[in-house]
Amino acid sequence: MIPAASRRELARRCAPFAAAAAIAFALVPIGTEVRWPEYTAAVALTALCVAAVYLLPWRRLWGTLSVVPVLGFLVAVALLRDAAGGAAAGISVLTLLPVVWCALYHRRSHLILVLGAVLVFFVVPPLLIGGAGYPLAGMRQGAVTAVVGTVLGLTIQRLVQRIRADAARSEEQRLELQRLARESDHLLAELDRVASTDMLTGLANRRAWTEWLADGVARDEPFAIAMLDLDHFKTYNDSHGHAGGDALLAEAAAVWTVALGDDGRVARVGGEEFAVLLGARDAEAVIERLREATPFHQTVSAGIAVWDGREPADATMRRADDALYTAKRGGRDRCVVAMSELTLN
Ligand code: GH3
Ligand code: MG
Ligand code: MG
Repeated sequence: MIPAASRRELARRCAPFAAAAAIAFALVPIGTEVRWPEYTAAVALTALCVAAVYLLPWRRLWGTLSVVPVLGFLVAVALLRDAAGGAAAGISVLTLLPVVWCALYHRRSHLILVLGAVLVFFVVPPLLIGGAGYPLAGMRQGAVTAVVGTVLGLTIQRLVQRIRADAARSEEQRLELQRLARESDHLLAELDRVASTDMLTGLANRRAWTEWLADGVARDEPFAIAMLDLDHFKTYNDSHGHAGGDALLAEAAAVWTVALGDDGRVARVGGEEFAVLLGARDAEAVIERLREATPFHQTVSAGIAVWDGREPADATMRRADDALYTAKRGGRDRCVVAMSELTLN
């Protein structure tokens, strides 16, 4: 049975064997009296066998049938030998071609079948035909060729099997490495996600927030930072319990995310402190929308600072924090917009 082989691969496999046979066929008539009808039949049979190997879908046919063209070639060699006068034609070494072919591309049972056929090739003509064409002494050459063929065939087949097993193992290892690489990519992405996410609210955490700020400045487009801090959250915790406080934090995060929509991104940067990165225009209106959405009848204070286009992002954040502090001091439940350093100067 020929394993997975495309037409081109089959042609590549057949070529050296067909070439060796062709050279032998071409050399035989030189200096030798040949019986042409028999010679022509041998050539035709060889061509038929090569074509059969190349064209027929052996893998879909019954496995043992695939050895028929190989045996057919042995018959062609027998015809050629007979056409050129028998054992003296000197072409019996051609019987090694089907042996090597079988060792490379067929299973062990096919190889043994072909080795048996080689033995028949050498033994039967001296016994049945005999005479000057097939002297009994020719059987000696036959025996040696059969022994050499057996050693050659079995050795090649063992090597081929070992190479195939190694290739299969390498392929398995390659697939396993591919799988591990995919898994580690996935784990790294998951690690990155976990490292950037606040577990209670599902919002981005301070680590992710710092990256957002760096991106914001790098983009060189106007942006604003708003710091939000729930009012009297400690009191809320005291009266509703820590779990109640957690629920408020989670709910506030959820409703603010919805209220914010595409206008900005919110992160949890402290216990009950949140930071929003948003466009410079309408920043105050957007934050007021968030404050109104605050759940459980709680209030939130906010401080907004607009990036002045030059300062480092943490300076903008500091100004937003100061504005928040002003909002707290001013009585909470309000939003204060920080003056820019440019305006102050
Ligand atoms: P202010 O209006 O001035 O902001 O007062 P406040 O009570 O909100 O602020 P304060 O800083 O005094 O208290 C914040 C509280 O938030 C204290 C802390 O126990 C609580 N807190 C921090 N993180 C968490 C959390 O993850 N879950 C809960 N339930 N409480 C938290
Ligand atoms: Mg607070
Ligand atoms: Mg606070």
